[in-house]
Amino acid sequence: MNKTVNLPAVILQEGREKALNRRHPWLFSNAIDKVLNTPNRGDTVEVLSSKGQWLARAAYSPSSQIRARIWTLDEAEAIDLDFFVRKLTRAWQLRQSLFSHTDTDGLRVVAAESDDLPGVTIDKYQDLLVVQLLSAGADAKRPLIVKALQQVFPEHSIYERSDVDVRKKEGLKPVTGWLHLPRECAEVLIKEHGMRLVVDVIQGHKTGFYLDQRASRAAVRRFAKDAEVLNCFSYTGTFAVAALAGGARHVTNVDMSELALATASRNAELNQLDLSQITNTKADVFKLLRQYQEQGKQFDLIILDPPKFAENKSQLNSACRGYKDINRVAMQLVKPGGLLFTFSCSGLMEEALFQKVVADAALDANRDCLFLERLQQDSDHPVASFFPEGYYLKGLICKIY
Ligand code: SAH
Repeated sequence: MNKTVNLPAVILQEGREKALNRRHPWLFSNAIDKVLNTPNRGDTVEVLSSKGQWLARAAYSPSSQIRARIWTLDEAEAIDLDFFVRKLTRAWQLRQSLFSHTDTDGLRVVAAESDDLPGVTIDKYQDLLVVQLLSAGADAKRPLIVKALQQVFPEHSIYERSDVDVRKKEGLKPVTGWLHLPRECAEVLIKEHGMRLVVDVIQGHKTGFYLDQRASRAAVRRFAKDAEVLNCFSYTGTFAVAALAGGARHVTNVDMSELALATASRNAELNQLDLSQITNTKADVFKLLRQYQEQGKQFDLIILDPPKFAENKSQLNSACRGYKDINRVAMQLVKPGGLLFTFSCSGLMEEALFQKVVADAALDANRDCLFLERLQQDSDHPVASFFPEGYYLKGLICKIY
């Protein structure tokens, strides 16, 4: 303990090093016995066992239940510029090995805890990087992260989109703005499997785009031939572009957001699609599906990709009811022999539970439902084995009779 005597440190309660031994990167407040040498928000602290044995180096977050997030389990590893360069390099090498840059130039480069950088999300749209710093430690290391990014990605612009609610839990305010090589225009056109898609890094959702649905877009494309498609919660209509690229007859995009639908039209034009094959409908999906039901409308292929229904455990039951309800109505609108692509991006909704909810929806809809394929966040959003929480997006391709 001598070496660390003057450093900010946390000492765990007896027996509370178990999660750490399994490499889980979060230390909860109730696992901590003492805090030494008054660390500030985001400071790096040494983590010691109750017997004073060195366990880890972590970022301290005084107001969060997740009191510390592990940076390293190696006592010799300093949390300096080289540390961030090493982590970014490994993460970027993985993505390069997974995707050909000539075909797909919008990628998640860093998926936070799963890439050993807790609280740090980085998306790369061509030569524009968008950074989200969601934890106190990530926020405190902003200057080092930006410097490391400049080394690993020279000549790239960097924009910060740390305007996410979870920062409140860490005692942090929203932060947005250019961090390096500012641009006049916040828009980038990315390539994905031969499609061109608009990303607005300032006004768009998250970092501007749903990169995580790339593999699902490819799946829709495979199944869309000659289909009359209903794309619910369409956002900027990327599933619509994929469906039409796959030979769909017609797609109806439905979203509440006018701006999202305007971008959907631009995406269609950019891909030289026949605009008569797309209808953009500004509506509440929940109401519109019921209206369609009353009108007896039917579709060959329906996509249901709603926003997160459960933010915390107490909302899980009502989220299940919400998913069941919307899936039931959607199934009733699928022609016999048609398809439903249904998704949940609520991390708390585990895969098996989601499947059960969809199965219950089929019972209530009185329709036969066969699960053809499982979908998940694409491989640039990997899940570290020690961090199952990283698996949040799951989907099912359902054949409906
Ligand atoms: N499927 C999209 C992402 C969907 S994000 C893609 O792959 O790119 C969720 C979208 O649902 C947002 O665009 C939001 O505006 C929309 N939305 C949320 N609640 C809605 C509702 N009740 N009715 C219609 N759209 C809604």
